[in-house]
Amino acid sequence: MSLNSKISTLALASAAVLGGSFAVWAEGELNLYSSRHYDTDERLYSDFTDATGITINRIEGKADELIARMEAEGANSPADILLTVDTSRLERAKNAGVLQSIDSAILEERIPANLQDSDNQWFGFSQRARIIFYDKADVQDPPMDYVSLADPKYKGQVCHRSSSNVYSQTLLSAIIENHGEEAAKSWAQGVVDNFAREPEGGDTDQLRGLVSGECDVSISNTYYFARALRKDVSGLSSDIDKIGVVFPAQDAEGAHMNLSGGGVAAHAPNKENAIKFLEYLASDQAQQYFSAGNDEFPAVPSVPVSESVAKLGSYKADDVSLSDVAKNVPAAQKIFNEVGWK
Ligand code: FE
Repeated sequence: MSLNSKISTLALASAAVLGGSFAVWAEGELNLYSSRHYDTDERLYSDFTDATGITINRIEGKADELIARMEAEGANSPADILLTVDTSRLERAKNAGVLQSIDSAILEERIPANLQDSDNQWFGFSQRARIIFYDKADVQDPPMDYVSLADPKYKGQVCHRSSSNVYSQTLLSAIIENHGEEAAKSWAQGVVDNFAREPEGGDTDQLRGLVSGECDVSISNTYYFARALRKDVSGLSSDIDKIGVVFPAQDAEGAHMNLSGGGVAAHAPNKENAIKFLEYLASDQAQQYFSAGNDEFPAVPSVPVSESVAKLGSYKADDVSLSDVAKNVPAAQKIFNEVGWK
């Protein structure tokens, strides 16, 4: 088989696998800096290579370390793509100058406007809702919106993560965007006054606190709960029926959403391949792998959710622009410090 006919065979195969929106043959490499580490991502990368012939070289690490590394490498950085989670962190990467604006008709069409950076430096590829969970045995009238978490009737009952965590920062930034700085500050003060314990642990620990009895009300990203439905998470799955779920603010702005996403590196040596990779992530099949691998909601609205996520039911999502929300992070940090939210 000649090289040309081999190439066209592969291009046809990729069209069949990925659907009409993505079938481009290109040679070369792609250097991916990623803080994602899910088994399903392996399939994602090998499908991309099969479809395009582009080899993916991966460097994995913690998000903030990858951003620092890109900053230190400067114009000599081999990074083509940064993949990470949370709007606050993607905005941190943008502000550090390690991303660049790109032009892609496919991304504009597939990814909803509120899940994109206003300058096209980052795009969301999956979504998670940050919602309220409660102990069904102890709480008869759970808070139905974020504002109510500050209600004195929940004194000594609320568990939450620390303010240094990006999820906390983006949630308060969204409250600032929706309700203003003053309301956000009195909310944060009220939640601190209701703490059952000093902020500690990750999202799974907030859920474990509900089954252990230490907490009555807590906040977690949806995927930690969905994961415990799908597979055994110690200290959680066996008692998960004790936990009630509230998608907050359904009569108002809707549940607070965050994302997992990425952007093209500022000095990407393989910029065209990098854009192709992001466009591939927006294809139907990649959307399913990308979201299902971490029990998340796809970013592309027409793509169905995975089985574990479907169990959470349907809800109204806050469609506020996450790019606007991210700009409030410094104000959120200031409020956390002022109210003593550790
Ligand atoms: Fe997480």
